[in-house]
Amino acid sequence: MKAAVLTSPQPIATHPLQIEDVPIPVPTPGQVLVRVLACGVCRTDLHIVEGELPPLYPQLIPGHQIVGEIVGVGNARVGRTLLSDQAARNRPAPEAHPLTALKPGTRVGVSWLGGTDGTCPYCRRGEENLCDSPTFTGYSVNGGYAEYALARADFVFPIPSALDDLHAAPLLCAGTIGFRSLRVAGVKKGERVGLFGFGASSHLAIAVLQAWNCQVYVSTRGESHRRLAASLGATWVGEDKKRPPVELDRAITFAPSGDVVISALSSLRKGGVVAINAIHLDRIPEFDYDKLLWGERQIRSVANMTRADARDFLQLASEINLRPKVTRFSLDQANQALSAVKDDAIDGAAVIVP
Ligand SMILES: [Zn+2]
Ligand SMILES: [Zn+2]
Repeated sequence: MKAAVLTSPQPIATHPLQIEDVPIPVPTPGQVLVRVLACGVCRTDLHIVEGELPPLYPQLIPGHQIVGEIVGVGNARVGRTLLSDQAARNRPAPEAHPLTALKPGTRVGVSWLGGTDGTCPYCRRGEENLCDSPTFTGYSVNGGYAEYALARADFVFPIPSALDDLHAAPLLCAGTIGFRSLRVAGVKKGERVGLFGFGASSHLAIAVLQAWNCQVYVSTRGESHRRLAASLGATWVGEDKKRPPVELDRAITFAPSGDVVISALSSLRKGGVVAINAIHLDRIPEFDYDKLLWGERQIRSVANMTRADARDFLQLASEINLRPKVTRFSLDQANQALSAVKDDAIDGAAVIVP
């Protein structure tokens, strides 16, 4: 199969992803093999490809917003996929799980949370997003910048039929983690919510906020992002250094910049919450506690996602007919897609269709 392979993390301008021919992976018990129909491009992929997240293996296929069709199930011969691994076929059947009943041909999503141990204190508390031994798709295991990918059967989500492949892909990370950010920020119906940065994640969050009758204040760099925010119904839109004209109940930051966190914090009412939707931040500058955090204001990070976040969000997205703005790239253009994300050169989300 064709895949975009990372061997040496480098700035994206040097085109670190090589398009190569690699063997189609073979599912082991508990795994499914999917034919990739679309794979969203996330800023985290950029952090992996450029090495801000340290490499875990000498070779990696990135990509963690996969919409795929199940073509193989571990321990079984399915459809056109003949599993060549005799040993795998002779192993006992995987543990019974409702999702292992997923049939060939089922369209599923695979997200950043590729698996958890299920046994650590966080998993036992129902906080699987904080698992001590997680698997991350496209980072600790190969992802979806390829024609085929493996996934744990109990970590894939059926895609509602109302969502097509191209438009469902960005929902799996950008959308789901944006949705989780709203939960972490504690957004209640009708509140004033600030979105600081307006890319793949926030242009989906705004639709959810509107469904909840919230007023949305958007601060973002880039004229085209401001136009997009206005066209999607933001109550107020301003430049990235501009403060919204009202005090906010909640704010979510999307840029990998600590300065933006301070802007968001300085826009909050007493008791308000900033949720940081970024896996990596340059640094947070020193700030005045008395002015900015006193008054029971809070700063919280948003770490990963749970399966419940993904299922709830996909359901909601289907109900409110959420359609992300997408720009399509071929697998050969994987480096260009990441460059576009880095340079904020496209509105909405980049999606690779192999
Ligand atoms: Zn992501
Ligand atoms: Zn765990």
